[in-house]
Amino acid sequence: MDIKNNINRYKAEVETSGCRLIAVSKTQPTTAIAEAYQAGQRLFGENKAQEMAAKQKELAPDIEWHMIGHLQTNKVKYIAPFVSLIHSVDSARLLEEINRQALKNKRSIPCLLQVHIAREATKFGWDAQELKTFLHTDLSHQFPAVTIIGLMGMATLTDNEDQIESEFRTLKNLFMELQHRELPANVSMKELSMGMSSDYKLALKAGSTLVRIGTSIFGARQSPNH
Ligand SMILES: *Cc1c(COP(=O)(O)O)cnc(C)c1O
Repeated sequence: MDIKNNINRYKAEVETSGCRLIAVSKTQPTTAIAEAYQAGQRLFGENKAQEMAAKQKELAPDIEWHMIGHLQTNKVKYIAPFVSLIHSVDSARLLEEINRQALKNKRSIPCLLQVHIAREATKFGWDAQELKTFLHTDLSHQFPAVTIIGLMGMATLTDNEDQIESEFRTLKNLFMELQHRELPANVSMKELSMGMSSDYKLALKAGSTLVRIGTSIFGARQSPNH
């Protein structure tokens, strides 16, 4: 893989749509991340807390680290001091722990709420009704050290582009509906994280603000279970 060339290409394409590129570096060695960094990439996505923390220690301090994978509450502490954005908040319990760790680190941690849009039962996330109910509660008093700045979603893994497009559109509609609602003081709808290597073009068309691209930039992952 020509990582530098891939970064230049995807970054240009994504930024033309007013969106930002997250280079998903899970399982990739720090040398690969450094190569992308040299091409000007600053946003990187990981899905394992300890792996992210280890890489963060070794690499440049101006990298923005994005947690994109399912996060267990007992792992939040590893990334709380430095993480830029947690995309994958799928429960109030997790938000509670992020708030606790943010307070411990005397900072505020930006988060996205992950919405379940795929037909696959295995994917994590809130359903739309649950989410609306949750956003009616007083989150700014419950979680003062957390800011919720948008939504994240993953489409079904399928070749059916109509289905993917419709799932992305469903998420975009929910995002816009919430933008027009009265929300708790620490909640805003600015970022919409959707799209990966196989479906980022559809995500851009549907109004994504953050696409998460891994294998198309770095090549196959070192471990298939990630
Ligand atoms: C791994 C991963 C990606 C990137 O997937 P690619 O197909 O390699 O682009 C995007 N989003 C999430 C949540 C992931 O876990």
